[in-house]
Amino acid sequence: MEEPAVVTRGLTKRYGDLVAVDHLDLELHRGEIFGLLGPNGAGKTTTILMLLGLTEPTEGEARVLGLDPTRRPLEVKRRVGYVPDAVGFYDQMTGRQNLRFTARLNGLNGFAAEERIASLLEQVGLSDAADDPVETYSRGMRQRLGIADALVKDPEVLILDEPTVAIDPEGVAEVLELIRRVSRERGATVLLSSHLLHQVRTVCDRVGIFAAGRLVALGRVDELAARAGVAATTLEVAVDGDPARVEEALRALPGVRAVERDGRDPRRWVVAADGDPRPALVRALAERGLVLLHLERREEELDALYRRYFREAEPAGAGRGTR
Ligand code: ATP
Repeated sequence: MEEPAVVTRGLTKRYGDLVAVDHLDLELHRGEIFGLLGPNGAGKTTTILMLLGLTEPTEGEARVLGLDPTRRPLEVKRRVGYVPDAVGFYDQMTGRQNLRFTARLNGLNGFAAEERIASLLEQVGLSDAADDPVETYSRGMRQRLGIADALVKDPEVLILDEPTVAIDPEGVAEVLELIRRVSRERGATVLLSSHLLHQVRTVCDRVGIFAAGRLVALGRVDELAARAGVAATTLEVAVDGDPARVEEALRALPGVRAVERDGRDPRRWVVAADGDPRPALVRALAERGLVLLHLERREEELDALYRRYFREAEPAGAGRGTR
């Protein structure tokens, strides 16, 4: 079997007490488009920097195209294109001049370089603006120039940090289509990071959901959406009646994992369960003649993530608090 394009094993980065990336195990197949997803501060950029050899792991290891980025950063940089979230260009220079500069840095000169640059500008839809200064470009145009810039060296892996952030919807569609084309036509492996799954989901073959430095879910978007439908639930419940009987009723619920007193009020409880035990809870209390005063689904971190990212995939009414 072909070696994966990117592998990480127990990859960890600590900044003092803060664990930015916590024992990450990941494998990216050759030619796939992989989305590293998570809210701001989840550790996505730190992971990318470790893959590029721009920061050293505290623990664990990474291999990019079989290379250790810590030991062979130059080779990794030669074969991996990187588009940071804020792409830096010489603003007074034109798009073409900026690409020429990158080409020269990569040992490409003369006619071959000019031809390649023209073709890249064409591919990213910037032929008409090629000779305008970059300071006149929109954010979307800069992003597309960033992709062209990363493609100058014809990389086997393309890494993009938040490629769709701060771009208007039309620009987002163009950037995603470009990523798809790069993957298809060049067979490049693409790793993109985003905090907006709903934007990038259509383009990703697989995604990993990252929260506080840990990978909390990994798979195809449809698989994860299906799994999110049965994500664990935490309920805040208030019941009028004998606490011992209330506890007995709550503990008998299907999929129940924990039942705890809230502490602030003897009538209040917190129930954690697999699936959604709310219909069973309402029935069980009614059967015992106990009065349900309050029932609310708590927004757990993971749950909130799923709800935000997989809103469209959620069955109607699922996950909503019942009051
Ligand atoms: P964002 O999209 O906001 O960049 P992210 O998922 O890429 O989010 P990282 O930038 O990797 O997250 O940051 C992960 C955590 O590590 C954050 O809490 C951040 O404050 C912290 N962090 C990142 N770089 C450093 C650094 N050089 N020194 C100290 N802490 C850092």
